[in-house]
Amino acid sequence: GQQLSAGSSKPRRSSNGSARQDSAVSGRVRVAVRLRPRNAEEIEADSDLADCVELQPELRRLKLRKNNWDFDTYEFDEVLTESASQKRVYEIVAKPVVESVLDGYNGTVMAYGQTGTGKTYTLGRLGEDDASDRGIMLRAMEDILAEVSSENDSVSVSYLQVYMETIQDLLNPANDHISIVEDPKSGDVFLPDATLVEIWDRKGFMELVKFGEANRFAANNKLNTESSRSHAILM
Ligand code: ADP
Ligand code: MG
Repeated sequence: GQQLSAGSSKPRRSSNGSARQDSAVSGRVRVAVRLRPRNAEEIEADSDLADCVELQPELRRLKLRKNNWDFDTYEFDEVLTESASQKRVYEIVAKPVVESVLDGYNGTVMAYGQTGTGKTYTLGRLGEDDASDRGIMLRAMEDILAEVSSENDSVSVSYLQVYMETIQDLLNPANDHISIVEDPKSGDVFLPDATLVEIWDRKGFMELVKFGEANRFAANNKLNTESSRSHAILM
């Protein structure tokens, strides 16, 4: 399984009193767990994953069997089973965050989990063959683009990879040591060197994500890193 965390916070400097307090998402981080179906290999190997992990979606619990007579129980804000669709995962985990962002809050959706648990599937799928496959990144951008007005708003995207202590620009691979600047007073963090690309439509966004993915793949091959030790960030 993998964990999806989502949360939003009020921008630190907005204090004109107009920001709504009754946001769809409370300030606290919400944590969901998604269990992916067994893949062909696991079915072939007759792996007993299903006997180790038991989901109790109504109780929002996951039971992890330790041995024949003992198990640990974990509670989550949401429990998404093997049969949960990409649409459902988006609506439960990310849509409330996107709505808060459109209300003027900062928001983050983060996928955490071992390699092969489905993070890229959940976040990054573009669904070019089957639109129902679209992941959180594309669905979020679609909802954002549907809400903004082309006269008054602009949407810009950065795509980065954190590996060890360095930040690489996936939209400009030559830029492989982006510096982090922190405002000592506000604590706000900036990445002044990160490439920012303005997005006009869904197609432009998909091209950008594909470009960044290709660079991520190339960077990981070059550094001989495992993707399990790098973290991609789409802003
Ligand atoms: P990660 O990014 O966490 O390493 P991936 O997203 O690459 O993992 O997923 C590993 C494999 O499992 C991929 O082949 C992916 O297509 C498949 N997979 C992941 N989640 C699901 C799912 N919910 N349904 C079907 N296949 C999935
Ligand atoms: Mg991945």
